Amino acid sequence: MSFVERLRAERDLPDEELKTLLETDRFDEELHKTADEVRQSVYGKAVYLRGLIEFTNYCKNDCYYCGIRKSNKAERYRLTKRQILDCCAQGYALGYKTFVLQGGEDPFFTDDVLCDIIAAIRSLYSDCAITLSIGERSEESYRLFFESGANRFLLRHETADENHYSVLHPAVMSLSNRKQCLFNLKEIGYQVGTGFMVGSPYQTTRNIISDLRFMQSLSPDMIGIGPFIPAKGTPFEHFPNGSVELTLRLISVLRLMFPHALIPATTALGTLHPQGRELGLKAGANVVMPNLSPVEYRGKYTIYNNKICTGEESAQCKDCLKRRIESAGYEISDSVGNVKRETVK
Ligand code: SAH
Repeated sequence: MSFVERLRAERDLPDEELKTLLETDRFDEELHKTADEVRQSVYGKAVYLRGLIEFTNYCKNDCYYCGIRKSNKAERYRLTKRQILDCCAQGYALGYKTFVLQGGEDPFFTDDVLCDIIAAIRSLYSDCAITLSIGERSEESYRLFFESGANRFLLRHETADENHYSVLHPAVMSLSNRKQCLFNLKEIGYQVGTGFMVGSPYQTTRNIISDLRFMQSLSPDMIGIGPFIPAKGTPFEHFPNGSVELTLRLISVLRLMFPHALIPATTALGTLHPQGRELGLKAGANVVMPNLSPVEYRGKYTIYNNKICTGEESAQCKDCLKRRIESAGYEISDSVGNVKRETVK
């Protein structure tokens, strides 16, 4: 059996074999084809859309890679509750069944403020999922958000290697806390997503293997990976982009290791390659996250340079994505798109 066939059959490979798989393009064709078969066996041709609402670019953290880190010069904004609800209304009219509230770690949004917004969305859209992507908070806060109606949470671990983590983040941030947050979220009952950047500064293949091993210990419902893209004004502004090819290879590896995961073809992938998201879907991804933020703020949520889809109205975004998804041979699903968990035998 080939490496790829064994990865499909066992959902795992020893480190050395994973290393070989990741470091050459020799297996790519077989990898992508096999990953697409597995994706279709679980999710068919369905692609789930998640409406992304970037509701604040204030952040108290100082992650070295991120364009909205505290120390970076950026024009800051936060959306009001009214504006957020307007985004949801527009999204719902376009058929979106998931709203993703993403932002920097902004202390303005206290538990009370956020719970009020979440509860308002929940009461208006009982048939939709509410996903949070707001970084690290206490277990108690996560519980309050869940009780207010949020039901999914995205928190990329960024890198599962302690040393690498400390190269990407200031000393006040810790990998162990981030991992603990993920286990807390799971325990509370959220569908949980994690992930990492491909080609972040100083990343090695060994680091990536640690990421895969960490994800095996977490069993995430969602896995988001995208290439690192330098952000102007950050300590890493002169580092090169992550590789599109390696990102696609990893999407396929992840699909084979986690057949049931919801895996987005990310905006970062679309930023580095004109057909990046289509290629992501063909490599095993099954989610796309179009932007629902008001157009006048989109250009300000600059986590990296040259981010795409900052000029279009939400409706244009949807039309463009529909064309792209169909051209890749898939179809937009109108279901809420919960994770399909494996039934335990
Ligand atoms: N504050 C939230 C949301 C962060 S933005 C949180 O901490 O979870 C979402 C993701 O964008 C991050 O998790 C990170 O993996 C990614 N990101 C940040 N800067 C990036 C860059 N320069 N290139 C590519 N991806 C980046």
